[in-house]
Amino acid sequence: MQAEINVGTLGHVDHGKTTLTQALTGKWTDTHSEELKRGISIRLGYADVSVYECKECGEFSSSEKCACGKGKGTLKRRISFVDSPGHETLMTTAIAASSIMDGALFLIAANEPCPQPQTAEHLMILNATGIKNVIIIQTKVDLVSRERAMESRKEIEDFVKGSVAEGAPIIPVVATHGVNIGAVFEAIQERIPTPKRDTEAAPRLYVSRSFDVNKPGSEIAGLQGGVLGGSLTQGMLKVGDEVELKPGIQKKEGAPYEALKFKITALRSESDKLDKAGPGGLIAVGTPLDPAITKSDMLVGSVIGHPGKLPEMVESVGVKYSLLERKDIDNPPFKMAEPVVVSVQTATAIGVIVNLAKGIATIKLKRPICVDKGSKVALSRRIGQRWRLSGWGSVV
Ligand code: ZN
Repeated sequence: MQAEINVGTLGHVDHGKTTLTQALTGKWTDTHSEELKRGISIRLGYADVSVYECKECGEFSSSEKCACGKGKGTLKRRISFVDSPGHETLMTTAIAASSIMDGALFLIAANEPCPQPQTAEHLMILNATGIKNVIIIQTKVDLVSRERAMESRKEIEDFVKGSVAEGAPIIPVVATHGVNIGAVFEAIQERIPTPKRDTEAAPRLYVSRSFDVNKPGSEIAGLQGGVLGGSLTQGMLKVGDEVELKPGIQKKEGAPYEALKFKITALRSESDKLDKAGPGGLIAVGTPLDPAITKSDMLVGSVIGHPGKLPEMVESVGVKYSLLERKDIDNPPFKMAEPVVVSVQTATAIGVIVNLAKGIATIKLKRPICVDKGSKVALSRRIGQRWRLSGWGSVV
């Protein structure tokens, strides 16, 4: 069974995103050794879970057997959690993650004053990308007094005033002990409905992960083709479909990008083999591609669809934009020749502003992207050593 929605987790580093995802799904999303070493989710981690409602007590959980011991759960929906990095230099990855979120859990720890720097930046991302279905999770309430927990709640309410998260529920949890996890599931069921998806349209799958699944030292004869992970925003893909992936790869440096054409060899949700996949949740696409070109997220930001049905590859992009009003940093108007990072769908590309007119920035990109007109864009600029979110808009 395929998940129906992607629920993102956002919030400051150390505010307990991975612990919460584990409490919700029973899985640890930090599966990469590098991530384990650094204790942060460098790439988008994800885990699928089924949500059940107990027939007896009405409690929601990820288990068919309710903790009350009396009831059997009714399966309500399957959802994918998208864990995104809280590390500040990886803000652009969080923006990419937000492009495939149907709603978000926004984590704010009770034991620190609100907002912490990344809490503020992640709220800007929610605002810029227009994710309205937000649930605020107040974490680490077991580390503070009742008074501090109430004070923290007040800080959170003040902080989200005027944003997309204004009026969002604020659910206190103790993720390490599973306290109030049922309330989180209930809020997800109420606040993040499954959007209407167009399954008849030409498929569009935005690649958010790309892997080599072979163990080092595997025999050539036993090698598996590269695997791509992502979400369909529209249409269906079937095993055996001839597809194209754009912008594709460069055969050598300086050469033009060439689309990759291949036949889908397998489709999977996190736990199941699928014959066909539609929008909602994250899916893995098996390919006959050389794993050398899919390893280490090399194809993240690509789009997959039926041949001839994908948008044109572009090397420069026009963005109708607004500047963010930032209280924490100086964010003056963009300048000609200024380098920016363009985040659109799951693609992230560095570019330079080559024209500014009538609220539209034309940006020449270092590598091409493939996006539909109207797609939401986040623009980051270099401030000191970091790329900071400074504007948002849409592709014209
Ligand atoms: Zn029950």
